Parts: sequence; structure tokens; C-alpha cells
Amino acid sequence: MNYNFTEREELGRTVFLLSLDKQNMTERIIIGKKSKIRCYFQEGIGEVYYDQSSPIGTFLQNFKANLAWQIKTTSLLDSYERSVLLENDRIYYAKPSIDFLQDQYKSNEPAAIFVSIRTWEEYLKCADLIRGNALFKNISNTLHQPFLIDISFGDILEKKHSQFLFEQITEQELTAELWYLKNSSECILVYNSLLPIFLYYINEIKDQSFTFNNCKACTKSFLSKNLHIELCSDECRKNQAAQQKIEFKERTKDDKITIAYDAAYYYWYNRVRKLKNSKNINPNKLIHARTAFESFRKEAAAMKKSINPDDEGTEKFCVWVIAQNQIIDQIMEAD
Ligand SMILES: [Zn+2]
Repeated sequence: MNYNFTEREELGRTVFLLSLDKQNMTERIIIGKKSKIRCYFQEGIGEVYYDQSSPIGTFLQNFKANLAWQIKTTSLLDSYERSVLLENDRIYYAKPSIDFLQDQYKSNEPAAIFVSIRTWEEYLKCADLIRGNALFKNISNTLHQPFLIDISFGDILEKKHSQFLFEQITEQELTAELWYLKNSSECILVYNSLLPIFLYYINEIKDQSFTFNNCKACTKSFLSKNLHIELCSDECRKNQAAQQKIEFKERTKDDKITIAYDAAYYYWYNRVRKLKNSKNINPNKLIHARTAFESFRKEAAAMKKSINPDDEGTEKFCVWVIAQNQIIDQIMEAD
């Protein structure tokens, strides 16, 4: 369902719903009209503005402070006053803020989607009220306040700022509803401030002793049941397995090469020693053998460096190394 930020938007309050599945480590966020959201969540009937399931912790991690909310929404308030003075089109004066709300709505960030719709709903509502501008100023401050918070939720979990959020929150902002629906154990809804969502989320993951780890595959930080879980997703588990397969192949490739080279080395070494220790030592033959042994070793070392890391390269090296035995054999057999 799309939201267009016009004066003809559907009436009713939009809510932000969060449901945590701690068993399967997922979060689900739904943003829609309160009158429709229960039916949508339970029966899958009707339409909402946003519905997304993600790995648990995604909402906290992706949330970003944004000071633009306070600055870019001032033309909404101005438009009330200017339209009274000049009897002109209110929406015209609100245009810069409408553009900003539309951008936020399109950002695909649930916090920005929710706050942009709610800001517009309150803007339309307050336009018809006595002292509407004061009321709108108050509610928009409450809606935009979470975007002033610029702290890492990983730090909050590590208790570095455990009191921070509680100190920020006013009584009005604390309001949230807990629903117990048949599809989930519990979900939380807010209308105005998102701060109760953060508090609830943090308390839930603290209760479970979940922790933020860094994924070994993609290095992204993720929420996990304990420190021993090192990979963030099925995709990273798959990638890690593929990587290990490559590394194993790489290791066995090295093993094959080493085995083949060592065998050839001792083959040469034993023959050169035999020449050196023989009763009727032939100095020229010994020099010839030693020189050939030296160049075999040099050539083998250079080849090992330039081998392609595939089966074919390994095979090629092994075949070459074995073939070199003939050289020392021929030297031994010569007179
Ligand atoms: Zn990962």
C-alpha cells in the first residue's frame, strides 16, 4: 500500500508493530492503520504500508540518528501560519517538508517510514484544530526525538549507556500497547514515539542474554544467542562452507606437491651419496651429478612457486618431478 502525502490520505492512526521470535531469532515489523493491523497480522487480510521479517537485532542496528528531521519539517509548521495570513494554499508552503517526508518514506527504513506517515497524519489533523500549531509542534517533537539519539545499541547492551534511553524518555513517550495475538507470543505497538520500541527490544534481548557478535564470514555485527555462534546467516554459513572446501583443496594440493617433491629429492640425494661413498670414486661423474641435482632443486622450487592453484597444476608438477628421476638414473648408468 502506498502513501502519497496528500490531503486525501485515509483517516485513522498509523501504528508501528514489532514482534520478536526469539526461538527463530527473527524480528517482524509491520506499519499500518491501527484499524487494519490486527486482521492483517492474524489472518493475513488487508493491506499495510510495510511488513518485513529480518534477523533479530536488524532494526536496532540499522537505526540511524538524523538531525534533518527537525530542520526539514519546519515548513509544515510555517504553512499553518502563512496560510492564515495570506489566505493561500497551505500545502504549497509545506512543499519542502512534504518532499522530505516522501524521501524518508521511500528510504525503506521502518523508523523513517513510520515517522513520516505519522508526521503527515498529525499535520492534517492539527490543521483543523484550535491551537493546532502548538499541538503539532508538541507531537512532531515527540515523533522526531528518537532521531536525535546517536549511540550504538551494541554499547547499550554492554551497559555502557544502560540508563541513557530511560533518561531521555518522558511519560507521554512511554506509551505503548502490548498485544497477545494468536500468531505470536507477544507484540508491541506504538503510535507516537519509537523510544518504547527501543526499550522493549533492549530489555527482551538482555533478558535472553543475547549478544552482538561479528560474523566471521561477512564481518557484519549481528545479534546471536551466545558468543559461540560465529556466522550471521544461512547465506554466510553456505559461503563459509564453500570457502573451507577451497582451503581444504588448497591444503591437500600443497600436500601432494610436497610428497612428490620430497620423494624425488631423496631419490636424487641417495644416488649422489652413493656416488660420493663409492670405493672407486669418479670425480667427474660426481661433479656432474651434483650440478644436475642443484639445477633440479632450483627448477623444482621455481615451478612450485608458479603452479596454478588447481588440480591440473598439481598434476603437472607431480608428473614433471617424477620424470626428473631419469636424469640422475642416466648419470648413474653412464661410464
Ligand atoms: Zn555474515
